[in-house]
Amino acid sequence: MPIQSINPINNQLIQEFEEHTDKDIEKVLSRAESTYNHWRRVAFAERTQLMLAAAAQLKQRKTHYAQLMTDEMGKVKQEAIAEVEKCALTCEYYAERAEKFLADESLSVPEGEAYIAYDPIGAVLAVMPWNFPFWQVVRFAAPNLMAGNVGILKHASNVPQCALALEEVFREAGFPEGAFQTLLISNEQVNYLLEDRRVRAATLTGSEGAGSSVARKAGEQIKKTVLELGGSDPFIVLADADVAQAAEIGVKARMINCGQSCIAAKRFIIHRSIYDDFVTLFLQKMQQLKQGNPNEVETDYGPMARADLADELVNQVQKSVAKGAKVLLGGARPNREGAFLDATVLTNISPGTPAYDEELFGPVACLFKVDSEDEAIRIANDSPYGLGGSVWTQDIERGKVLARQIESGAVYINKMMASHPAVPFGGVKLSGYGRELSHLGIREFVNQKTVWIN
Ligand code: NAP
Repeated sequence: MPIQSINPINNQLIQEFEEHTDKDIEKVLSRAESTYNHWRRVAFAERTQLMLAAAAQLKQRKTHYAQLMTDEMGKVKQEAIAEVEKCALTCEYYAERAEKFLADESLSVPEGEAYIAYDPIGAVLAVMPWNFPFWQVVRFAAPNLMAGNVGILKHASNVPQCALALEEVFREAGFPEGAFQTLLISNEQVNYLLEDRRVRAATLTGSEGAGSSVARKAGEQIKKTVLELGGSDPFIVLADADVAQAAEIGVKARMINCGQSCIAAKRFIIHRSIYDDFVTLFLQKMQQLKQGNPNEVETDYGPMARADLADELVNQVQKSVAKGAKVLLGGARPNREGAFLDATVLTNISPGTPAYDEELFGPVACLFKVDSEDEAIRIANDSPYGLGGSVWTQDIERGKVLARQIESGAVYINKMMASHPAVPFGGVKLSGYGRELSHLGIREFVNQKTVWIN
């Protein structure tokens, strides 16, 4: 079946691509193996130069790459440019620090001398989602190429142009052919790759269904995986919080990328004493957002990435409403072409409804009123997910206490969740396992080898 690039502004086909065949896959695997045998021995200084060249290439062509994202998945152009800039920053981050992160680490032993050496492992398969089509890939590629591994990308089927452009970034930066390759393939072909001895590990960012399928197959082959899956992050506003600031940032945290972010604030858990004030401000800010063409500067949020995703989200909202949830704002697809969905706010949400139990991956905020901090934590943790979360309070020490009680891979205090190359990123529970970014991310796919000398 051809892979289609469809513009979600109007659901028009932009371009079709033929899927790569088994023969193409074989070529990619054999190139990956021979490149790895050379690349693993290349000095850090040379890898650094190439990674800095990749950063320069991203900066130089940022408008072009941003346009590909806007066209294929509807990201607002300014957010798309910022995404490419963040990719460049991450390439620079690892170019400058990889050698230090992977330096031999001496061990205290009863006799002789011992240390840990961090060796590369080979070709790593990356299965990636469409929501941050450049960022998700670069946060995998930059540390792994610097570590001496080579990468094979299977991107989401709706962003083939982005997938091919990412291969171009590394090729034009001067990386050897085979260091980073893109395959346009089906999910079934992913299994074929996982079974091949030349693929040594896999990382997947996406839904838990996809994650569990790839992890199962990799597990059969005793291959390591890192999984970055869904999230339903709590945004807890305590009685002493700066309500105006929390409401303003809360709207941003929910609506970035038209709500299609794994670490978007999805469940707003608000203390009863400030609930009404928060809701008034939150609704005001949500109503002020301008929905429209993502290419226009005044647009705050564009269409969702695909029409079927917008339909599915409306379905989750309607099922929740049928079981008692109340719509304070939006709740429907507007009367226009494209994958649009109006900014939506729900309240009165009970367990057993999609709004309570599932991830709402789009512009829908869920509000909960609570009587105490204990109740806030109980609701925050009453989710199958555990990716991020935030706490809003003027009492930082209290915030830190609550942060330790939230079951998630990260908690930010008085700050919107956002990734940064310097901080580890990843989840617990159904949000997955393993960490990306920082010094932890670069150590996921290396052989942590012990050397002991008598
Ligand atoms: P998805 O449907 O799971 O797709 C993600 C990737 O997995 C795509 O490349 C997809 O390919 C592939 N895939 C799907 N099923 C597969 C299978 N059975 N075997 C092998 N590969 C498979 O997820 P999505 O809808 O694109 O992305 C949204 C989800 O990703 C949300 O849950 C979001 O929270 C999560 N996400 C998590 C993070 C994080 O860092 N934790 C970041 C961003 C997004 P096709 O497109 O060809 O199906």
